[in-house]
Amino acid sequence: MTIVDVRTPDPKKFIKGATGDWEIVIGMEVHAQVTSEAKLFSGASTEFGKDPNDNVSLVDAAMPGMLPVINEECVRQAIRTGLGMKAEINLKSVFDRKNYFYPDLPQGYQISQFKQPIVGEGKILLDMPDEQVEIGVERLHLEQDAGKSLHDQHPTMSFVDLNRSGVALMEIVSKPDLRSADEAKAYLTKLRTILRYLGTCDGNMDQGSMRADVNVSVRSPGGEFGTRCEIKNVNSIRFVGQAIEYEARRQVAILEDGGKIDQETRLFDAVKGETRSMRSKEEAHDYRYFPDPDLLPLEFSQAFVDELAEHLPELPDDKKARFVNDYGLTAYDADILVVERASADFFEEVAKGRDAKLAANWVINELFGRLNKEGKDLAESPVSAAQLGSIIDLIKAGTISGKIAKDLFEIVWTEGGDPAAIVEDRGMKQVTDLGAIEAIVDEILGANPDKVEQAKEKPNLVGWFVGQVMKASKGKANPQAVNELLKKKIGLD
Ligand code: ADP
Ligand code: MG
Repeated sequence: MTIVDVRTPDPKKFIKGATGDWEIVIGMEVHAQVTSEAKLFSGASTEFGKDPNDNVSLVDAAMPGMLPVINEECVRQAIRTGLGMKAEINLKSVFDRKNYFYPDLPQGYQISQFKQPIVGEGKILLDMPDEQVEIGVERLHLEQDAGKSLHDQHPTMSFVDLNRSGVALMEIVSKPDLRSADEAKAYLTKLRTILRYLGTCDGNMDQGSMRADVNVSVRSPGGEFGTRCEIKNVNSIRFVGQAIEYEARRQVAILEDGGKIDQETRLFDAVKGETRSMRSKEEAHDYRYFPDPDLLPLEFSQAFVDELAEHLPELPDDKKARFVNDYGLTAYDADILVVERASADFFEEVAKGRDAKLAANWVINELFGRLNKEGKDLAESPVSAAQLGSIIDLIKAGTISGKIAKDLFEIVWTEGGDPAAIVEDRGMKQVTDLGAIEAIVDEILGANPDKVEQAKEKPNLVGWFVGQVMKASKGKANPQAVNELLKKKIGLD
């Protein structure tokens, strides 16, 4: 591929070396398992967690004479993913054989797409803290997954499990447009969000349904691209970041020492936090790619694509824009909410007919904060959208103060129940009755005559009085009423 550098070097991202600054260049190859009940070229099931070799058809085991038949659902999923990345969809693509030997590859080749992939160039937008970055996607192609070799089950034997053999993968290849570990992590997070919104891959890296190969090189800022190393199969977003940081420093050390980088395939050792050499990099010609004679070129009409495009769900970038424009949320809050479709939906349910900013605040700070603390998923939240909504209604109506609302949230979280009924039963209502507040105000003022004198000079001290009154009322006095009353009594207005 011809590489065009689309980025302006940014000193904030440079690595400081002994001889000067270095810029990291990263490109990612992500393997995403297609969500589909059956495999790419056979009717065998793709269900996860079955006993070894339960999901194997004669095609997956490469029995002589078995022929592959394309699964149309996988084609649809690849096109939908391409559309989700605003990519070019190729109405004609070709399946090739990529030849290599491995015990978990009974065919002796992997059916993949080489010169003519189903999806061409696209892009993925990253919202970094102080800039928006567009990362180019080079291509997306369909290919078969291999089986799995098991070496640690027996002291002298290895086993092969073909359940994964023939499962459809989308390989999504980025351009070398990423310039830091943070960007690489944001890219993977965004890609996973898009895949999950579309329902084309579940994005579970810990189950291996999304795997990343990370290509890393370093160069002097803005200079010629350096030789890259490819770190294979990194299985969490955090590890991707660690692998890049380690690998870039390793390369800088070699170059500053007058050495050169060997283009090679490396592995990330998560325990040691290091990458180490696995093999020298193979070239495309090593694989003897050629069009698979068992398969016709894959062809479909533009109408087929248009039909899929029409039924795409709202994607994260559009949802974010809508949250900012329609609800008045900050870009930062909108970002947090749209990462998972479920959190965006939850927020919209809470915000419906309410103060959306207040709703976002409660969903993000109170609810997500609490879920994080307990290591829980939104799906396991003991507080429902309806309950959170009614807490917000109670604040808005002035029935409870913001402070009491937090106590109420705590009660609903641990005990459940209807928030309005809890407020009623436990006497948590805010005191707006001016007579009752005035009595407390008078008492506090009477007990602190010298502070009252000081407050006449330093109006900031009113805040201290508000605090005292709130404490005396156990948080139930209406703080605004307290504030106004205090100012009047001290003689500040
Ligand atoms: P291959 O198919 O041999 O792995 P590609 O040219 O398709 O090679 O590139 C694979 C990945 O490597 C892509 O994600 C690309 O962006 C990335 N890449 C290419 N050149 C560099 C480089 N100099 N530094 C970092 N990444 C690179
Ligand atoms: Mg590669």
